Amino acid sequence: MEEIKRLLLEEKAALLENIREKTGNQNKLQNDIGDAIDSSVEEQDRELDLLLQDRDQARLKGIENALQRMASDDFGYCDECGENISKKRLMAVPLTSMCINCQSIEERNRLAQNAFSRADYTSQVLSDE
Ligand SMILES: [Zn+2]
Repeated sequence: MEEIKRLLLEEKAALLENIREKTGNQNKLQNDIGDAIDSSVEEQDRELDLLLQDRDQARLKGIENALQRMASDDFGYCDECGENISKKRLMAVPLTSMCINCQSIEERNRLAQNAFSRADYTSQVLSDE
C-alpha cells in the first residue's frame, strides 16, 4: 500500500508542477496580448491550456480523494460491495473506488441502458410514420 501512496504523491507533485507552469504561461500570454498578430492562435492555445488544466485539476482532485481514503483506511475497498480491490488493479488504476466485478457490472448496465434508449427511439420513429 505504501508503494501506491508513493505513486499517488509523486503524481500529485507532477500535476501541481504542471498546473503552476501553465498558469505562469498564461500570465505571460496576457502581457503579450498587445500586438494582435497571431492573437487567434494564441486564443486557441489558451483554450487548450484551460481545457488541459481542467483535466489536470480533476485528476488532482481524484488523487487527493484517494489519499484521503488512504488516510481513513477506506482505500482499497470497493465502494459497492466492500470487497478488497486487488493490488494489481490498484497499481494499474489507483484512483478507482470499485472492484473489477462491480465495475464491469456497472459498465454492462450502462451499455444496456444505451441499448434501451435506442430501442425507445426506434419505436417512436416507427409510430410517428
Ligand atoms: Zn465490488
